[in-house]
Amino acid sequence: MDIRQGIPVSTGITIGEVFLLEAEGVRIPSHFIPEGEEEHEVERLEKAFNNALAELEGLADELRKKAGQKIAEIFVAHAGMLGDESFRQEFFERIQKKNYTAEFAVARTMRHWRKLFQADDFLAPRVADLEDLERRLLKHLLGQKREELSSLQKEVILVAHDLSPSQIASMDTDKVKGFATNAGGPTSHAGIIASALGIPAVVGLGSITNDVTGGDTIIIDGGRGLVTIEPDEETCQRYSMRRQEVLESDQVLRRELKDLPSETKDGLKVSLMANIESPKEVAKAIEYGADGIGLYRTEFLYVGSKSQEAPNANNHFRAYMDALNDLDGRPMIIRTLDLGADKFSMSDNVVKERNPFLGLRSLRYCLKNPEVFEEQLRAILRASAYGNVSLMFPLVSGLEELQAAKEILNDVKKQMDDNGDEYDPDLPVGIMIELPSAVMNADVLAQHSDFFSIGTNDLIQYTLAVDRGNEHVADLYRPEHPAVLKLIKMAVEAANNAGIPISVCGEMASVVLYTVLLIGLGVHRLSLAPPQLIPEVKKIIRSIDQADAEELAKQVLSAGGPEKAREVLLDANRQLMKDKGIAPPI
Ligand code: PEP
Ligand code: MG
Repeated sequence: MDIRQGIPVSTGITIGEVFLLEAEGVRIPSHFIPEGEEEHEVERLEKAFNNALAELEGLADELRKKAGQKIAEIFVAHAGMLGDESFRQEFFERIQKKNYTAEFAVARTMRHWRKLFQADDFLAPRVADLEDLERRLLKHLLGQKREELSSLQKEVILVAHDLSPSQIASMDTDKVKGFATNAGGPTSHAGIIASALGIPAVVGLGSITNDVTGGDTIIIDGGRGLVTIEPDEETCQRYSMRRQEVLESDQVLRRELKDLPSETKDGLKVSLMANIESPKEVAKAIEYGADGIGLYRTEFLYVGSKSQEAPNANNHFRAYMDALNDLDGRPMIIRTLDLGADKFSMSDNVVKERNPFLGLRSLRYCLKNPEVFEEQLRAILRASAYGNVSLMFPLVSGLEELQAAKEILNDVKKQMDDNGDEYDPDLPVGIMIELPSAVMNADVLAQHSDFFSIGTNDLIQYTLAVDRGNEHVADLYRPEHPAVLKLIKMAVEAANNAGIPISVCGEMASVVLYTVLLIGLGVHRLSLAPPQLIPEVKKIIRSIDQADAEELAKQVLSAGGPEKAREVLLDANRQLMKDKGIAPPI
């Protein structure tokens, strides 16, 4: 048994069988053969070796003709390895001495070689060749019986170097019960989608792909960021019990709190909304007591789509109407496209940028591609005729940008007027506050916005210069950094002065450790995910007074540095919860 610590991005516990994406790319159906079948298994593997070898030689010949000897060398090298008798012996020994199936012998032997290559600077770039060889051998072994990610027959836990938002969005969630990746940071988009889909996930594990083999049993503890490889019986039982307990207490909390108001003991109302990526999530949000949808991330329409085409106004409209139908009059804030950086799938349509997080993304992309933008704006306006809709622009950096976006919105309204199309003429238009420049200029922006919503994921990234999706700097990504807290406070003051509502919809609103702090900073609307968290957050809110929260925020704000701020935050939360007789959030 081995335990790895990574970065928690989606809570929940799941126990299951590994599906190794890059290396094997197929499910290893079984690990061991009965005594006496070794010879037959070796023969199976030998046949697979020979078939793979013939295939590689054919490919090398073809390439030699088309592209010359140099390119063909890649396959010649692969063939050279497969033809090497001592290399083959390693696989056969695992069958003969350990009773492995041929597939498992391939997976284990190749894992051994991948580890050796990875540890050597010169050989590390060749790991992809090993992965290619492994997939080829498994293809010949499994033939028609091959279960790939798109055709899984059994539940698995996905282990991969990294997962793109579109890979996750198109996953069969009936079969993929969790995932663990080498790369990824605290608020990378992959984690956000996992959380929305309710799949426990841990990222930033470094080398998990080299530590497991397809078919191994692992446990993902998404809340604590732990991955247990080949757990013993006792650990499995402990986790199964915990999973059951969490499930039961979740249900109890939901039943007890669903219809109770979300307000502090002294009567301060704190609105709890849900973040969604797709209309399918609305029903669950309502079930857990969400007041509405505080952030509809519409990128799902792009990253979840297999086509490289942008969705048209009808695709958008249908998605919004589906959500509105389930919301039954409750409010929904639709954010316009925030594509780019970690959220882009239509890579063919976009210029490669050296620094995409500072590049042509989000609102900037929309302003440069008005035809894409207008399609969405038209759909949001159309939907506004049928429900309680607000529109929100992401990544606004200053006034002219906001004005340019609103100008396009007005143009679309005029076109719709000309066509006699209906929309809500008073559609509220707000902005996300997720850049330091927006905070510094919040007083001006507030004069031109109907509401603010703070996107702490990006605000933290751009304030602290820490890539939110990079595991190497994940320890520097600090929501409680005084610089971040001061910016939140400034944005709240600007909104209050202008008399407009302000919420937080970044992941900070979804971490119970920050609930009291945010309220103390003056944020009285939170939008979070997954909605299963709502009862827990409500419970905390209902146990405190506004003054408690303000005192806690004052202490954390005056801590000086991020390390001290975290210490103060943990202590103050523990003390407060102890006084109130409820379990501390951490
Ligand atoms: C944010 O930046 O906090 C936010 C809510 O937007 P996203 O995570 O989609 O960038
Ligand atoms: Mg953002």
